[in-house]
Amino acid sequence: SYSFFIGKMEEERRQKVVVVGAGPVGSLAALYAANRGHDVEIYELRGDLRDPSTTPLNFTRSINLALSERGLNAMRHANQPRLIDYVKGVTIPMRGRMIHGKRPDGKLYEEAQDYDIHGRSILAIDRGDLNKRLLDMLEEMPNVTFFFNHKLTGADFKRNKAWFEVKDESTYNLRDRAREIEIDFDFMIGADGAHSAVRYHLMKFARMDYQQEYIDTLWCEFQIAPRAESKNKFRISPNHLHIWPGKEFMFIAIPSEDGSFTCTLFAPVAIYELLESDSSQIPSFFDKYFPGVTSLIHPSDLIAQFQSNPHLPLISIKCKPYHFSSSVVILGDAAHAMVPFYGQGMNAGLEDVRILFDILDKHDRMTNDDSSLEASAREIALAEYSAVRMPDAHAINDLALQNYIEMRSSVLSPVYRWRKALEEW
Ligand code: FAD
Repeated sequence: SYSFFIGKMEEERRQKVVVVGAGPVGSLAALYAANRGHDVEIYELRGDLRDPSTTPLNFTRSINLALSERGLNAMRHANQPRLIDYVKGVTIPMRGRMIHGKRPDGKLYEEAQDYDIHGRSILAIDRGDLNKRLLDMLEEMPNVTFFFNHKLTGADFKRNKAWFEVKDESTYNLRDRAREIEIDFDFMIGADGAHSAVRYHLMKFARMDYQQEYIDTLWCEFQIAPRAESKNKFRISPNHLHIWPGKEFMFIAIPSEDGSFTCTLFAPVAIYELLESDSSQIPSFFDKYFPGVTSLIHPSDLIAQFQSNPHLPLISIKCKPYHFSSSVVILGDAAHAMVPFYGQGMNAGLEDVRILFDILDKHDRMTNDDSSLEASAREIALAEYSAVRMPDAHAINDLALQNYIEMRSSVLSPVYRWRKALEEW
């Protein structure tokens, strides 16, 4: 019958989309693919983030970061109004940056610098909570299957096969600690982060240009605790991204819903080595370069947090192209990990998803429902995606590097510098 014919046709058009990496970018990409009726399988190295025993990669707690219109817009296009309602409910608007410093007379000052003359804000959001929310939404979709504790170890993008090491505690036995599985797919989306295994295997198929750079800066996370027993639980303004510019290094603080602030010390490796060799110097270092912080984080906590939280590197990656044939594309940090100073790493990754699916949809419409044309239409679409996205991704990587100087030094008020110059004269 006609309905049988239509059903058969839809079945034939259903593609098996494999997403590697269930971070924010992979999760959003899976949502977009699932909305289009594909069979989506998500393979993630770690356990389920929603399980309290799973430690977030590289982060002590959950990191909070700046979500901008770029990322929000990509989420709006996921056709999930509940996602946007959720984001509106859990974010804190930051209308500008608040610069902290000390005047020559020893008095502390704060200077607010708005981001936008129309008063628009960027939003502080808990990265882990956003990720969990995306996973919850995917869980509700009948055409999505999760494979946690699955690490991509190999891929053949001509035969569309991939291999994963399965590390599920329940399947462990003494002789066979990790087993390997082979899967096939129509289309793979690699969103497995800066040290992407998909990118590594893609390099064997595509003539990929690749460039990576570790900058001479480490970062370490700190927490400003909320004020106890007070109506205002925030110790400093919740509607600003706080910066203590130290010229060669800086300390920043981003608000969280519970009244705490997640802070980050960005400094050259030599400074870290100095503080690591004698941590008793940490409070005086902060008093000199980040005045006021020791009244927000007790000096003993400052030392303890510096000693217990990891000191992590920052990598910047550029590559091209992002795809091979009709089989695979890489998105997010896998394609363009960037230093965090422009607050755009995740935002740009989410935007990748929107742009990729816009281009795929455009070429899909051109196949006039002929499923035999699907793979070649996707190949053309992926080539267009690589060509369109590469200059923008490279530009945002460069802007992110440049913004470090802006944040740690140029933000120092020109009025203040002018007055100081006058005083010195
Ligand atoms: P990831 O978040 O790295 O996720 C990749 C996933 O793939 C992980 O879950 C990992 O376990 C999994 N995986 C890895 N290898 C494999 C494998 N072999 N097989 C299967 N799965 C695998 N961005 C912003 O937009 N705004 C900010 O304010 C901001 N601040 C930041 C501050 C700091 C200090 C840092 C370090 C980053 C910041 N970023 C910010 C950047 C942001 O965190 C990243 O750009 C974003 O997390 C990238 O998302 P992703 O999904 O591409 O990769």
